[in-house]
Amino acid sequence: MATDRFQSAVFDAYLDNARAHAARYLRRLPDRHVGARAGRDELLAALHSSLPDKGDEGGDVIDLLATQAERGAVACNSPRYFGFVIGGAYPVALAADWLVSTWDQNAGIYAISPLVSVLEEVAGQWLLDLFDLPRESGVGFVTGCQMANFTCLAAARHHVLRRVGWDVEADGLQGAPRLHVVASAESHITIDVALRYLGLGTRNVHRVDSDAQGRMRADHLREVLAGLDGPTIVCAQAGNVNTGAFDPLREIAQVTRERGAWLHVDGAFGLWARASASLRAFADGIELADSWATDAHKWLNVPYDCGVAMVRHAEDHRVAMTSAAAYLIQTKGPERDAVDWVPEFSRRARGVPVYATLRALGRDGVQDLVERSCARARQMADVLRAAEGVRILNDVVLNQVLVRFGDDDELTRAVIEGVQRDGTCWLGGTTWQGLGAMRISVSNWATSEDDAARSAAAILRVFHSLRAAA
Ligand SMILES: *Cc1c(COP(=O)(O)O)cnc(C)c1O
Repeated sequence: MATDRFQSAVFDAYLDNARAHAARYLRRLPDRHVGARAGRDELLAALHSSLPDKGDEGGDVIDLLATQAERGAVACNSPRYFGFVIGGAYPVALAADWLVSTWDQNAGIYAISPLVSVLEEVAGQWLLDLFDLPRESGVGFVTGCQMANFTCLAAARHHVLRRVGWDVEADGLQGAPRLHVVASAESHITIDVALRYLGLGTRNVHRVDSDAQGRMRADHLREVLAGLDGPTIVCAQAGNVNTGAFDPLREIAQVTRERGAWLHVDGAFGLWARASASLRAFADGIELADSWATDAHKWLNVPYDCGVAMVRHAEDHRVAMTSAAAYLIQTKGPERDAVDWVPEFSRRARGVPVYATLRALGRDGVQDLVERSCARARQMADVLRAAEGVRILNDVVLNQVLVRFGDDDELTRAVIEGVQRDGTCWLGGTTWQGLGAMRISVSNWATSEDDAARSAAAILRVFHSLRAAA
């Protein structure tokens, strides 16, 4: 009988095994070599075979994953992983995510899961409250900021075209009035990708100049908008992916409103500055925008994948995303169907770890998490800046630090590679205004003062040994 399968010890055996492996992984994380211990060849040798006719024992499969496959993991939830902008998994977030997998809910519509619908409704309200954005905004939990940008810009596309009498959902873009998109030269690549998905393309984006910190120049935006007529969407940014700098959002919002354009803000990590009393001034005026995209899997430290799309005009958001099919029992009351707010149909209950983490951290906890990350970034910048031959290229206003060694691209690249090999910490490189740079991003809840000190020391050790060898 089917129920026997659930009463048997099978689930217990698998879950106990997985839990033991997970606990071991997490215990070792703080001291683990941060980079991957095995690459493609080695992993294929351990994992590849032709598809077996008869399956292996499930417990053996879990063991294989946890012993062999895991060698290919980069410890990006390590407290000393500073690559990209990643974040770790906060303990309660990870535990909540286990429950999400256990419940295996299809979070698409209320009728399939009141549980998820209500938790996401509350989590969405909490986020609007935390960021101090209009409480009536639409909220959708998507896979990441890429899809948050897409969702917000779909709502924008709907809104600006409807205002000139065009129904883009019904008629598409063929024959539609010309729609202008304005973005800074520094906007994140996922804005371009979203524009591609939306049929708007990237070739005709009007690019606004940015300043030395990568902030959009509001005076240039004013000039650009003065030359445009008709439906227009402006894409601004809170938190430049290299410098952490914020576009001057209040000024941008004013200029954009004067022109009757839609303002979208990509705040993948920068929006979280709104949770901090000491940092929120950077994002001043962001509440005047029409839509906001952010990530929870970066600074809130929930497991992948979780981004959030928020739209001031909830009805535009809903019309752009909703799927009404005859067989769906969609709600007509206050109950929330996620399919109305996200591109996905069936989906994971990814808002649940957000609920759990916000509930466990509270407003103070989120503020502390954000401020601690920024303090660790400043700490590393201070240690590195004090060393002769090392330059910090950006104003360290948030959690991002750009470092250049010996004013030399090649040496800077060699230091980055040397640090990656060393394994004390992991970080990557970038090019900032024509100069090669190491990019340090701090967004993990667990990064301590000691982690920052050890990492800065390792970076300097590699730099000094390379210089001595030259
Ligand atoms: C990371 C990032 C994105 C993309 O987010 P994903 O979660 O990777 O989809 C977009 N914009 C900015 C500024 C980012 O830092």
